[in-house]
Amino acid sequence: VKNVSKTYKSGNRSLTVLDNVNFSVEPGQSIAIVGPSGSGKTTLLGLCAGLDAASQGSVMLVDRALEDLNEDERAEVRSQNIGFIFQNFQLLPTLTALENVMVPLELKKRKDAREKATELLKKVGLEDRMTHYPTQLSGGEQQRVSIARAFANEPKILFADEPTGNLDTETGEMIEDLIFQLNQDQGTTLVLVTHDLDLAKRTNRIINIKGGKVQEAHNG
Ligand code: ATP
Repeated sequence: VKNVSKTYKSGNRSLTVLDNVNFSVEPGQSIAIVGPSGSGKTTLLGLCAGLDAASQGSVMLVDRALEDLNEDERAEVRSQNIGFIFQNFQLLPTLTALENVMVPLELKKRKDAREKATELLKKVGLEDRMTHYPTQLSGGEQQRVSIARAFANEPKILFADEPTGNLDTETGEMIEDLIFQLNQDQGTTLVLVTHDLDLAKRTNRIINIKGGKVQEAHNG
């Protein structure tokens, strides 16, 4: 992330959320982004993952400069490289839990999509909820479906926005362990947004966003 700024404009009002931000994450590292509510953590995560474009500056994801790509090319880079766990899950409402997890596998034309998705849902403890639709699932269950879907991509980089925010302590710890296992066993780079300082401390680095600027807060 190089000299990145993000300004939201609505009507004649504008709000600069990120102001000339710089940092980088090496492959295999884990990093936590912390900061007060509304400080721009989700915005920064979205820019890093190519879900939105910076107003100024450059974001390099794997080896592609995102500002040089159109939306279709950004989508391709995302599907090849990243998994994203959204704060509000973003499950497809007309698909069951199993079908939601199968989506990234089918996009990659995996013949074993159903078996792989079943295995992932078992891993997050949802084997008895596979045929439920998102509206029939609790917030924590939807969160776990969205985690299984992010894992299905076998991402090089996993971006997660408050991955344990909706979960009880026990389930949160289980999900946390799965995320760090992915980092340790497969070298998946982790970029996490969290309010949970215990979770943040498990990462290699913590960066703090405040007043649009990023500060390195801690080396774990
Ligand atoms: P939280 O911890 O509460 O989730 P956050 O640190 O993730 O907050 P963001 O969601 O990135 O913060 O939002 C940063 C600021 O930008 C907020 O003031 C928010 O209202 C504003 N904002 C976010 N998205 C938009 C948008 N699409 N249009 C206009 N303003 C936006």
